[in-house]
Amino acid sequence: MSSEWVDFGAVKAAVSLADVLRSYGVDWLRSRRPGQLEGRCPIHRGQRVDAFHVSVSKNAFQCFACQAQGNVLDFVAAMERCSVREAACLLARRFAVAGGAADPGSAPQSNWLGKKEGMNRPLRFTLRGVDRSHPYLRARGILSETAARFGVGFYGGPGLMSGRVVIPIHDAQGQLVAYAGRAVDGAPPKYRLPSGFLKSQVLFNFHRAAAADRTEAVVVEGYFDCLKVHQAGFAAVVALMGTTLFPAAEALLRKRFGQLALMLDGDSAGRRATERIAQQLAGKCRVRRVIVSAGGQPDQLSEAEITALLARDPGQEGEGR
Ligand SMILES: [Zn+2]
Repeated sequence: MSSEWVDFGAVKAAVSLADVLRSYGVDWLRSRRPGQLEGRCPIHRGQRVDAFHVSVSKNAFQCFACQAQGNVLDFVAAMERCSVREAACLLARRFAVAGGAADPGSAPQSNWLGKKEGMNRPLRFTLRGVDRSHPYLRARGILSETAARFGVGFYGGPGLMSGRVVIPIHDAQGQLVAYAGRAVDGAPPKYRLPSGFLKSQVLFNFHRAAAADRTEAVVVEGYFDCLKVHQAGFAAVVALMGTTLFPAAEALLRKRFGQLALMLDGDSAGRRATERIAQQLAGKCRVRRVIVSAGGQPDQLSEAEITALLARDPGQEGEGR
């Protein structure tokens, strides 16, 4: 992937930082002086309204809070947490820069980018100094052993995940592709994910579940449901990170497991999703519905309650129903 050629100069000359900012949904910058924009920093997402400055004429930016600065390539590299070279390839394609990686006449280049665009790239960093015994985890009934196994903990360092409980997300090969950041103080959003992260391509905890000696996987909605079910002794558990079973996730599950136990939330969205997913899987693999009591969700249940629910009538519902 490093062999792909891209003209940095052509990309920098052709793509304006203003357009790139717009493409990331950054619409809050205001002009206080001609040729200058300023506002909250989209990279570290702080609250200071005077932190992030853009010089339109120089096509450059600087954040006085997180110290990020540079040109349009540096900006994308910071947003995507990728190399400058990958940022150049991404921009060349996104903005169809002539002579850059977007050249449609070059099959290997467009194949590579086309393929990569639908995937989550492995991260090139891991967050350090994560606190696995933070009170938030204890309050949600997560033991420090479970937190350690999943790499979950409170992160007090700088950046996008600052001040949140971070949850590492891996692809099916076990490569770290993102962190989800759970607010611990009610600050929105409840979960923060990096821009560009493709939920449709990942099933949370699949790589560990697949390694477990089980033929049935438990399918839950959220990260904490997954942690709690795992803690109750069910190692083959995955989380949808929502209520949709995306095709890529369905393929992974069907290839590895003969049966799925749908254990979604006990609210109406969870009930509807259970039926929808059971229909989706009808005739493809064995499914059983594990009904969590109305209004409840797996992460709120005790280990004994989870065990009791999952132990009930294993496999009784049979093929796709
Ligand atoms: Zn910043």
